Amino acid sequence: MGKTLQDFHQQRLKNESRVAIVNLGCVRNTVDSQTMMATLERKGHSLASLEGADAVIVNTCSFIESAKKESIDAILELIALKKKGKIKKVIVAGCLAERYGSQLVSELKEVDAFVGVQAMSPKALQAKAYLTPPHYAYLKICESCFNKCSFCVIPKIKGRFISRDMEVVLQDVRRFDEQGVKELNIVGQDITAYGLDIYRKKNLAELVGKIAREVKNIEWIRFLYAYPAHITDELLDVMAREPKICKYIDVPLQHISDKVLKAMNRRITKAQTIALIEKIRRKIPGVFLRTTFIVGFPGETKKDVEELKAFLVDHPFERVGVFTYSHEEGTKAYDLSGQVPQKVKEARAHELMKEQEKVAQRLHERLIGREMKILIEERKKDDTTIYIGRSEFDAPDVDGVVYVKSPRPLRQGQFVSARITQVLGYDLMGEALSVRQ
Ligand code: SF4
Repeated sequence: MGKTLQDFHQQRLKNESRVAIVNLGCVRNTVDSQTMMATLERKGHSLASLEGADAVIVNTCSFIESAKKESIDAILELIALKKKGKIKKVIVAGCLAERYGSQLVSELKEVDAFVGVQAMSPKALQAKAYLTPPHYAYLKICESCFNKCSFCVIPKIKGRFISRDMEVVLQDVRRFDEQGVKELNIVGQDITAYGLDIYRKKNLAELVGKIAREVKNIEWIRFLYAYPAHITDELLDVMAREPKICKYIDVPLQHISDKVLKAMNRRITKAQTIALIEKIRRKIPGVFLRTTFIVGFPGETKKDVEELKAFLVDHPFERVGVFTYSHEEGTKAYDLSGQVPQKVKEARAHELMKEQEKVAQRLHERLIGREMKILIEERKKDDTTIYIGRSEFDAPDVDGVVYVKSPRPLRQGQFVSARITQVLGYDLMGEALSVRQ
Protein backbone atom coordinates (compact mmCIF):
# COMPACT_ATOMS: atom_id res chain seq x y z
CA MET A 1 0.00 0.00 0.00
CA GLY A 2 1.52 3.41 0.82
CA LYS A 3 0.65 4.82 -2.58
CA THR A 4 -1.50 7.93 -2.43
CA LEU A 5 -3.87 9.35 -4.99
CA GLN A 6 -1.31 12.10 -5.42
CA ASP A 7 1.45 9.60 -6.39
CA PHE A 8 -1.00 7.97 -8.65
CA HIS A 9 -1.66 11.23 -10.53
CA GLN A 10 2.02 11.90 -10.88
CA GLN A 11 3.23 8.44 -11.85
CA ARG A 12 0.37 6.70 -13.54
CA LEU A 13 -1.87 9.25 -15.13
CA LYS A 14 0.68 11.49 -16.75
CA ASN A 15 -0.57 10.77 -20.21
CA GLU A 16 -4.10 9.81 -19.35
CA SER A 17 -6.72 12.48 -19.29
CA ARG A 18 -10.07 10.72 -19.39
CA VAL A 19 -10.86 8.95 -16.16
CA ALA A 20 -14.01 7.10 -15.14
CA ILE A 21 -14.99 6.04 -11.65
CA VAL A 22 -17.06 2.98 -10.84
CA ASN A 23 -18.56 3.47 -7.41
CA LEU A 24 -19.55 0.48 -5.30
CA GLY A 25 -20.73 0.07 -1.73
CA CYS A 26 -22.41 2.51 0.60
CA VAL A 27 -23.09 6.23 0.36
CA ARG A 28 -19.86 6.94 2.24
CA ASN A 29 -18.06 5.48 -0.77
CA THR A 30 -20.16 7.77 -2.97
CA VAL A 31 -18.74 10.73 -1.07
CA ASP A 32 -15.18 9.38 -1.46
CA SER A 33 -15.75 8.88 -5.17
CA GLN A 34 -17.01 12.46 -5.50
CA THR A 35 -13.89 13.62 -3.70
CA MET A 36 -11.67 11.60 -6.03
CA MET A 37 -13.46 13.10 -9.02
CA ALA A 38 -12.97 16.62 -7.73
CA THR A 39 -9.28 15.89 -7.05
CA LEU A 40 -8.80 14.44 -10.52
CA GLU A 41 -10.46 17.43 -12.13
CA ARG A 42 -8.30 19.81 -10.16
CA LYS A 43 -5.29 17.90 -11.47
CA GLY A 44 -6.44 18.52 -15.03
CA HIS A 45 -8.00 15.15 -15.87
CA SER A 46 -11.39 15.01 -17.44
CA LEU A 47 -14.12 12.70 -16.22
CA ALA A 48 -15.48 10.23 -18.68
CA SER A 49 -18.04 7.48 -18.92
CA LEU A 50 -16.75 3.92 -18.87
CA GLU A 51 -16.80 3.60 -22.67
CA GLY A 52 -14.80 6.75 -23.26
CA ALA A 53 -12.24 6.38 -20.47
CA ASP A 54 -8.49 5.81 -20.64
CA ALA A 55 -8.29 4.82 -17.00
CA VAL A 56 -11.00 3.46 -14.72
CA ILE A 57 -10.92 3.69 -10.95
CA VAL A 58 -13.17 1.24 -9.14
CA ASN A 59 -13.99 2.35 -5.61
CA THR A 60 -14.58 -0.93 -3.81
CA CYS A 61 -16.27 -2.17 -0.67
CA SER A 62 -15.28 -5.14 1.48
CA PHE A 63 -17.62 -4.72 4.43
CA ILE A 64 -19.37 -8.06 4.00
CA GLU A 65 -19.03 -11.12 1.77
CA SER A 66 -21.56 -10.00 -0.86
CA ALA A 67 -19.86 -6.57 -1.15
CA LYS A 68 -16.48 -8.25 -1.68
CA LYS A 69 -17.93 -10.42 -4.41
CA GLU A 70 -19.49 -7.44 -6.16
CA SER A 71 -16.15 -5.59 -6.02
CA ILE A 72 -14.15 -8.54 -7.37
CA ASP A 73 -16.67 -9.07 -10.17
CA ALA A 74 -16.41 -5.40 -11.15
CA ILE A 75 -12.58 -5.57 -11.17
CA LEU A 76 -12.66 -8.71 -13.35
CA GLU A 77 -15.04 -7.01 -15.80
CA LEU A 78 -12.69 -4.04 -16.05
CA ILE A 79 -9.69 -6.33 -16.56
CA ALA A 80 -11.61 -7.98 -19.40
CA LEU A 81 -12.17 -4.54 -20.96
CA LYS A 82 -8.47 -3.77 -20.58
CA LYS A 83 -7.55 -7.03 -22.30
CA LYS A 84 -9.83 -6.12 -25.19
CA GLY A 85 -8.01 -2.78 -25.46
CA LYS A 86 -11.10 -0.75 -24.53
CA ILE A 87 -9.45 0.86 -21.50
CA LYS A 88 -5.79 1.34 -20.71
CA LYS A 89 -5.57 1.26 -16.94
CA VAL A 90 -7.50 -0.25 -14.05
CA ILE A 91 -7.05 1.26 -10.59
CA VAL A 92 -8.59 -0.34 -7.52
CA ALA A 93 -9.37 2.01 -4.66
CA GLY A 94 -11.30 1.82 -1.38
CA CYS A 95 -11.93 -0.77 1.30
CA LEU A 96 -11.06 -3.91 -0.66
CA ALA A 97 -7.70 -2.43 -1.65
CA GLU A 98 -7.05 -1.42 1.96
CA ARG A 99 -8.02 -4.79 3.40
CA TYR A 100 -6.63 -7.21 0.86
CA GLY A 101 -4.15 -5.02 -1.07
CA SER A 102 -1.06 -7.20 -0.82
CA GLN A 103 -2.98 -10.38 -1.63
CA LEU A 104 -4.71 -8.72 -4.59
CA VAL A 105 -1.43 -7.36 -6.00
CA SER A 106 -0.22 -10.92 -6.58
CA GLU A 107 -3.58 -12.29 -7.72
CA LEU A 108 -4.74 -9.48 -10.00
CA LYS A 109 -1.60 -8.62 -11.92
CA GLU A 110 -3.52 -6.74 -14.61
CA VAL A 111 -4.52 -4.06 -12.11
CA ASP A 112 -2.27 -1.02 -12.51
CA ALA A 113 -2.54 0.39 -8.99
CA PHE A 114 -4.16 -0.25 -5.63
CA VAL A 115 -5.09 2.76 -3.49
CA GLY A 116 -6.33 2.09 0.05
CA VAL A 117 -8.84 4.25 1.87
CA GLN A 118 -6.37 5.62 4.36
CA ALA A 119 -3.98 6.75 1.63
CA MET A 120 -6.91 8.23 -0.28
CA SER A 121 -8.23 10.59 2.39
CA PRO A 122 -7.85 14.17 1.19
CA LYS A 123 -7.20 17.07 3.52
CA ALA A 124 -10.17 19.02 2.36
CA LEU A 125 -13.24 17.72 0.64
CA GLN A 126 -14.08 19.62 -2.51
CA ALA A 127 -17.07 17.44 -3.09
CA LYS A 128 -19.34 18.13 -6.00
CA ALA A 129 -22.61 16.40 -6.57
CA TYR A 130 -21.40 14.27 -9.49
CA LEU A 131 -22.69 10.93 -8.37
CA THR A 132 -25.99 12.21 -7.13
CA PRO A 133 -28.55 14.29 -9.00
CA PRO A 134 -28.07 18.03 -8.37
CA HIS A 135 -30.98 18.31 -5.91
CA TYR A 136 -29.48 16.14 -3.19
CA ALA A 137 -26.02 15.55 -1.80
CA TYR A 138 -24.20 13.49 0.76
CA LEU A 139 -21.97 15.21 3.26
CA LYS A 140 -19.47 13.09 5.16
CA ILE A 141 -18.60 14.59 8.54
CA CYS A 142 -16.37 11.87 9.96
CA GLU A 143 -14.35 8.90 8.89
CA SER A 144 -14.06 5.43 10.41
CA CYS A 145 -15.77 4.50 13.64
CA PHE A 146 -15.45 5.04 17.36
CA ASN A 147 -17.11 1.75 18.25
CA LYS A 148 -15.91 -1.81 18.28
CA CYS A 149 -18.80 -4.00 17.22
CA SER A 150 -17.48 -7.54 17.28
CA PHE A 151 -18.76 -8.39 13.77
CA CYS A 152 -17.42 -5.31 11.99
CA VAL A 153 -14.18 -4.76 10.08
CA ILE A 154 -14.68 -1.05 9.44
CA PRO A 155 -12.48 0.29 12.28
CA LYS A 156 -9.73 -2.07 11.15
CA ILE A 157 -9.97 -1.07 7.50
CA LYS A 158 -10.42 2.64 8.01
CA GLY A 159 -8.14 3.31 10.95
CA ARG A 160 -8.92 5.64 13.83
CA PHE A 161 -12.09 7.72 14.03
CA ILE A 162 -11.61 11.23 12.62
CA SER A 163 -14.14 14.06 12.74
CA ARG A 164 -13.86 16.80 10.16
CA ASP A 165 -13.37 20.32 11.46
CA MET A 166 -16.77 21.98 11.94
CA GLU A 167 -15.85 25.11 9.99
CA VAL A 168 -14.64 23.01 7.02
CA VAL A 169 -17.89 21.02 7.12
CA LEU A 170 -19.87 24.28 7.15
CA GLN A 171 -17.93 25.52 4.13
CA ASP A 172 -19.05 22.40 2.24
CA VAL A 173 -22.61 23.01 3.37
CA ARG A 174 -22.49 26.62 2.09
CA ARG A 175 -21.19 25.41 -1.27
CA PHE A 176 -23.97 22.83 -1.56
CA ASP A 177 -26.50 25.48 -0.57
CA GLU A 178 -25.22 27.89 -3.22
CA GLN A 179 -25.30 25.10 -5.84
CA GLY A 180 -29.04 24.71 -5.23
CA VAL A 181 -28.99 21.38 -3.37
CA LYS A 182 -32.40 20.82 -1.74
CA GLU A 183 -31.64 17.85 0.48
CA LEU A 184 -28.47 17.31 2.46
CA ASN A 185 -27.78 13.82 3.78
CA ILE A 186 -25.22 13.76 6.56
CA VAL A 187 -23.26 10.52 6.61
CA GLY A 188 -20.38 8.80 8.37
CA GLN A 189 -19.96 5.43 10.06
CA ASP A 190 -21.01 6.87 13.41
CA ILE A 191 -22.05 10.48 13.00
CA THR A 192 -23.40 10.56 16.57
CA ALA A 193 -19.78 10.37 17.80
CA TYR A 194 -18.95 13.47 15.75
CA GLY A 195 -16.59 15.72 17.70
CA LEU A 196 -15.50 13.21 20.35
CA ASP A 197 -11.95 13.14 18.98
CA ILE A 198 -11.37 16.80 18.15
CA TYR A 199 -13.75 18.63 20.49
CA ARG A 200 -13.84 16.03 23.31
CA LYS A 201 -17.64 16.04 23.21
CA LYS A 202 -20.45 14.82 20.98
CA ASN A 203 -21.10 17.80 18.73
CA LEU A 204 -23.60 16.57 16.16
CA ALA A 205 -26.48 18.53 17.72
CA GLU A 206 -24.48 21.77 17.54
CA LEU A 207 -23.40 21.06 13.96
CA VAL A 208 -26.87 20.25 12.59
CA GLY A 209 -28.36 23.18 14.50
CA LYS A 210 -25.88 25.52 12.82
CA ILE A 211 -26.55 23.99 9.40
CA ALA A 212 -30.33 24.28 9.84
CA ARG A 213 -30.09 27.95 10.81
CA GLU A 214 -27.65 28.90 8.08
CA VAL A 215 -28.90 27.26 4.88
CA LYS A 216 -31.25 29.01 2.46
CA ASN A 217 -31.92 26.63 -0.44
CA ILE A 218 -31.53 23.37 1.43
CA GLU A 219 -34.94 22.42 2.83
CA TRP A 220 -34.24 18.93 4.11
CA ILE A 221 -31.35 17.95 6.36
CA ARG A 222 -31.24 14.26 7.07
CA PHE A 223 -28.78 12.33 9.10
CA LEU A 224 -28.11 8.70 8.47
CA TYR A 225 -26.64 6.04 10.79
CA ALA A 226 -27.15 7.20 14.37
CA TYR A 227 -25.43 4.72 16.69
CA PRO A 228 -28.08 4.15 19.39
CA ALA A 229 -25.83 4.39 22.43
CA HIS A 230 -24.57 7.82 21.28
CA ILE A 231 -27.92 9.57 20.60
CA THR A 232 -28.14 12.54 22.96
CA ASP A 233 -31.11 14.54 24.27
CA GLU A 234 -29.58 17.65 22.64
CA LEU A 235 -29.70 15.92 19.26
CA LEU A 236 -33.36 14.94 19.67
CA ASP A 237 -34.21 18.46 20.86
CA VAL A 238 -32.61 20.12 17.85
CA MET A 239 -34.42 17.66 15.55
CA ALA A 240 -37.74 18.48 17.17
CA ARG A 241 -37.05 22.23 17.04
CA GLU A 242 -35.64 22.79 13.55
CA PRO A 243 -38.22 22.40 10.77
CA LYS A 244 -35.52 21.77 8.15
CA ILE A 245 -34.27 18.64 9.89
CA CYS A 246 -36.16 15.63 8.54
CA LYS A 247 -38.19 13.84 11.17
CA TYR A 248 -36.44 10.64 10.27
CA ILE A 249 -33.82 8.71 12.20
CA ASP A 250 -31.86 5.78 10.93
CA VAL A 251 -30.80 3.99 14.07
CA PRO A 252 -29.18 0.60 13.36
CA LEU A 253 -30.06 -1.67 16.29
CA GLN A 254 -28.58 -4.90 14.84
CA HIS A 255 -30.40 -7.07 17.41
CA ILE A 256 -32.60 -6.90 20.49
CA SER A 257 -31.70 -10.01 22.50
CA ASP A 258 -29.46 -8.94 25.38
CA LYS A 259 -27.28 -11.99 24.90
CA VAL A 260 -26.65 -11.19 21.21
CA LEU A 261 -26.27 -7.43 21.81
CA LYS A 262 -23.58 -8.17 24.39
CA ALA A 263 -21.78 -10.60 22.09
CA MET A 264 -21.96 -7.96 19.34
CA ASN A 265 -20.46 -5.41 21.78
CA ARG A 266 -23.21 -2.90 21.02
CA ARG A 267 -23.02 -1.22 24.45
CA ILE A 268 -26.79 -1.05 24.83
CA THR A 269 -29.36 -3.41 26.33
CA LYS A 270 -32.87 -4.27 25.20
CA ALA A 271 -34.40 -2.20 28.01
CA GLN A 272 -32.21 0.81 27.13
CA THR A 273 -33.11 0.41 23.45
CA ILE A 274 -36.84 0.41 24.21
CA ALA A 275 -36.43 3.45 26.48
CA LEU A 276 -34.54 5.24 23.69
CA ILE A 277 -37.18 4.45 21.06
CA GLU A 278 -39.95 5.66 23.37
CA LYS A 279 -38.02 8.85 24.11
CA ILE A 280 -37.44 9.55 20.41
CA ARG A 281 -41.15 9.10 19.64
CA ARG A 282 -42.12 11.28 22.63
CA LYS A 283 -39.74 14.12 21.79
CA ILE A 284 -40.35 14.09 18.01
CA PRO A 285 -44.02 13.37 17.33
CA GLY A 286 -44.57 11.81 13.91
CA VAL A 287 -40.93 10.75 13.51
CA PHE A 288 -40.21 7.86 11.12
CA LEU A 289 -37.67 5.35 12.36
CA ARG A 290 -35.48 3.13 10.24
CA THR A 291 -33.35 0.35 11.59
CA THR A 292 -31.33 -2.63 10.48
CA PHE A 293 -30.91 -6.02 12.10
CA ILE A 294 -28.34 -8.73 11.63
CA VAL A 295 -29.54 -12.31 11.96
CA GLY A 296 -27.43 -15.43 12.28
CA PHE A 297 -24.79 -13.94 14.58
CA PRO A 298 -22.76 -16.80 16.18
CA GLY A 299 -24.72 -18.33 19.03
CA GLU A 300 -28.06 -16.82 17.96
CA THR A 301 -30.88 -19.24 18.75
CA LYS A 302 -34.41 -19.61 17.51
CA LYS A 303 -35.51 -18.02 20.77
CA ASP A 304 -33.42 -14.91 20.03
CA VAL A 305 -35.09 -14.63 16.61
CA GLU A 306 -38.53 -15.01 18.21
CA GLU A 307 -37.61 -12.17 20.56
CA LEU A 308 -36.62 -10.02 17.63
CA LYS A 309 -39.85 -10.82 15.82
CA ALA A 310 -41.92 -9.88 18.86
CA PHE A 311 -39.96 -6.62 19.12
CA LEU A 312 -40.85 -5.76 15.50
CA VAL A 313 -44.51 -6.10 16.37
CA ASP A 314 -44.45 -4.43 19.80
CA HIS A 315 -42.22 -1.50 18.76
CA PRO A 316 -43.08 -0.99 15.10
CA PHE A 317 -40.51 0.71 12.92
CA GLU A 318 -41.58 2.38 9.70
CA ARG A 319 -38.51 1.07 7.87
CA VAL A 320 -36.50 -2.06 8.58
CA GLY A 321 -33.68 -3.86 6.77
CA VAL A 322 -32.56 -7.34 7.79
CA PHE A 323 -29.10 -8.64 6.86
CA THR A 324 -27.51 -12.00 7.41
CA TYR A 325 -24.36 -12.09 9.52
CA SER A 326 -21.20 -12.12 7.41
CA HIS A 327 -18.28 -14.14 8.80
CA GLU A 328 -15.41 -11.68 8.44
CA GLU A 329 -11.82 -12.52 9.26
CA GLY A 330 -10.08 -10.02 11.49
CA THR A 331 -13.18 -9.44 13.62
CA LYS A 332 -13.75 -10.63 17.19
CA ALA A 333 -16.82 -12.60 16.11
CA TYR A 334 -14.82 -14.57 13.56
CA ASP A 335 -13.54 -17.06 16.15
CA LEU A 336 -16.77 -17.40 18.10
CA SER A 337 -18.31 -20.83 18.32
CA GLY A 338 -21.91 -21.47 17.29
CA GLN A 339 -21.66 -20.20 13.70
CA VAL A 340 -25.09 -20.42 12.07
CA PRO A 341 -25.42 -22.15 8.66
CA GLN A 342 -26.08 -19.76 5.76
CA LYS A 343 -29.42 -21.39 4.92
CA VAL A 344 -30.65 -20.90 8.48
CA LYS A 345 -29.52 -17.26 8.45
CA GLU A 346 -31.41 -16.64 5.23
CA ALA A 347 -34.55 -18.33 6.54
CA ARG A 348 -34.41 -16.15 9.66
CA ALA A 349 -33.98 -12.97 7.60
CA HIS A 350 -36.91 -13.99 5.41
CA GLU A 351 -39.11 -14.71 8.42
CA LEU A 352 -38.40 -11.29 9.92
CA MET A 353 -38.95 -9.42 6.67
CA LYS A 354 -42.31 -11.15 6.23
CA GLU A 355 -43.32 -9.89 9.66
CA GLN A 356 -42.05 -6.41 8.84
CA GLU A 357 -44.05 -6.34 5.60
CA LYS A 358 -47.24 -6.55 7.64
CA VAL A 359 -46.02 -3.87 10.06
CA ALA A 360 -45.03 -1.51 7.24
CA GLN A 361 -48.33 -2.05 5.43
CA ARG A 362 -50.25 -1.18 8.61
CA LEU A 363 -48.18 1.96 9.26
CA HIS A 364 -48.39 3.05 5.64
CA GLU A 365 -52.16 2.72 5.53
CA ARG A 366 -52.36 5.43 8.18
CA LEU A 367 -50.87 7.83 5.64
CA ILE A 368 -53.77 7.56 3.19
CA GLY A 369 -55.48 10.94 2.89
CA ARG A 370 -52.50 12.78 4.36
CA GLU A 371 -50.93 15.72 2.54
CA MET A 372 -47.17 15.34 2.16
CA LYS A 373 -44.33 17.40 0.78
CA ILE A 374 -42.61 15.43 -1.97
CA LEU A 375 -39.26 16.03 -3.67
CA ILE A 376 -39.53 14.97 -7.31
CA GLU A 377 -36.81 12.66 -8.65
CA GLU A 378 -37.93 11.78 -12.18
CA ARG A 379 -40.86 10.94 -14.42
CA LYS A 380 -42.02 7.34 -14.52
CA LYS A 381 -40.80 5.83 -17.76
CA ASP A 382 -44.03 4.25 -18.95
CA ASP A 383 -46.49 6.95 -17.85
CA THR A 384 -46.25 10.65 -18.70
CA THR A 385 -48.50 11.74 -15.83
CA ILE A 386 -46.76 9.89 -13.00
CA TYR A 387 -43.61 11.11 -11.27
CA ILE A 388 -41.33 9.40 -8.76
CA GLY A 389 -40.49 11.33 -5.62
CA ARG A 390 -39.65 11.01 -1.95
CA SER A 391 -41.03 12.45 1.26
CA GLU A 392 -38.86 13.56 4.18
CA PHE A 393 -39.37 10.02 5.50
CA ASP A 394 -37.61 8.37 2.55
CA ALA A 395 -33.83 8.47 2.32
CA PRO A 396 -32.45 8.26 -1.21
CA ASP A 397 -31.68 4.74 -2.44
CA VAL A 398 -32.60 2.90 0.75
CA ASP A 399 -36.29 3.60 1.33
CA GLY A 400 -39.40 3.39 -0.83
CA VAL A 401 -40.70 6.15 -3.09
CA VAL A 402 -43.88 8.17 -3.51
CA TYR A 403 -45.47 8.07 -6.96
CA VAL A 404 -47.18 11.36 -7.71
CA LYS A 405 -49.89 11.69 -10.31
CA SER A 406 -49.80 15.11 -11.90
CA PRO A 407 -51.46 16.33 -15.09
CA ARG A 408 -48.98 19.23 -15.08
CA PRO A 409 -45.32 18.49 -15.92
CA LEU A 410 -42.99 18.32 -12.90
CA ARG A 411 -39.25 18.85 -12.76
CA GLN A 412 -36.52 16.93 -11.01
CA GLY A 413 -35.70 18.70 -7.74
CA GLN A 414 -39.09 20.39 -7.48
CA PHE A 415 -41.15 20.21 -4.29
CA VAL A 416 -44.84 19.37 -4.63
CA SER A 417 -47.56 18.87 -2.14
CA ALA A 418 -49.41 15.58 -2.70
CA ARG A 419 -52.31 13.78 -1.10
CA ILE A 420 -51.62 10.09 -0.46
CA THR A 421 -54.20 7.84 -2.10
CA GLN A 422 -52.77 4.32 -2.07
CA VAL A 423 -50.19 2.01 -0.50
CA LEU A 424 -48.11 -0.03 -2.95
CA GLY A 425 -46.04 -2.33 -0.74
CA TYR A 426 -43.16 -0.21 0.56
CA ASP A 427 -44.11 2.65 -1.80
CA LEU A 428 -46.97 5.15 -1.79
CA MET A 429 -49.12 6.72 -4.48
CA GLY A 430 -50.47 10.27 -4.30
CA GLU A 431 -51.99 13.11 -6.31
CA ALA A 432 -50.28 16.46 -6.76
CA LEU A 433 -52.15 19.29 -5.02
CA SER A 434 -49.85 22.26 -5.45
CA VAL A 435 -46.51 22.73 -7.09
CA ARG A 436 -43.65 24.98 -5.96
CA GLN A 437 -41.58 26.60 -8.74
S1 SF4 B 1 -20.98 1.22 14.73
FE1 SF4 B 1 -20.25 -0.90 14.79
S2 SF4 B 1 -21.06 -1.75 12.87
FE2 SF4 B 1 -21.14 0.43 12.63
S3 SF4 B 1 -19.21 0.95 11.60
FE3 SF4 B 1 -18.91 1.18 13.84
S4 SF4 B 1 -18.02 -0.74 14.50
FE4 SF4 B 1 -18.95 -1.09 12.48
